[in-house]
Amino acid sequence: MIGKSTAEHLLLKPVPRAKAIVAADTCATFGGMPAAEGNQTGAAGVSQFMAKHNLPIQGRLINCPSCPVHPKCLIGTLAYVAAKGYPQVNPKLLTPLMFYGHSTHDECPRYPYYERKIFAKYLRDPQGCLFEPGCLGPISYTECPHRQWNTGVNRCIRASAPCIGCSSPHFGKRKDFRFYRKGERQHPVAYTEQDRKGGRP
Ligand code: SF4
Repeated sequence: MIGKSTAEHLLLKPVPRAKAIVAADTCATFGGMPAAEGNQTGAAGVSQFMAKHNLPIQGRLINCPSCPVHPKCLIGTLAYVAAKGYPQVNPKLLTPLMFYGHSTHDECPRYPYYERKIFAKYLRDPQGCLFEPGCLGPISYTECPHRQWNTGVNRCIRASAPCIGCSSPHFGKRKDFRFYRKGERQHPVAYTEQDRKGGRP
């Protein structure tokens, strides 16, 4: 509720007339934690809202996920839309490719460990790929490897913590979703078979 109106009610006026809609943060894009399993409030991402009201999505909605969205991704997207119009997006996630074109895994400094099948067992382990403690880098498309956070001070993996997948549509959706895990077998997110193997044959 915002004042006496629901957010849904307020959005019904501007969204049908908008040329482009930019959804910012994982809650607005994919529902995130407010729309987790057992959702009591009816919280939903903007795409769900638009689908519910039969509003055209393709070529209008741009999703900028992460918890929170990186300010440079958001400002960059807004500037691009204002100057040039609708950007190139991932066809499934509707995320702008200029900021969400690569996964955290693709550009991880620990990737050589992953390739050599050397896995860290614990959080803060300075060596090894963090897949087994639950890293969601393989399914997380972000700018973290390039821009980091707090004006380039640090990011999860550089601090020896696994990527918690905050830009992923899976983030916080299931009751058993945990930020950190011990061993990929307990992982609540459906990896591809190759992801699940963690590089092992
Ligand atoms: S699984 Fe995580 S820690 Fe390992 S290479 Fe990928 S992003 Fe880096």
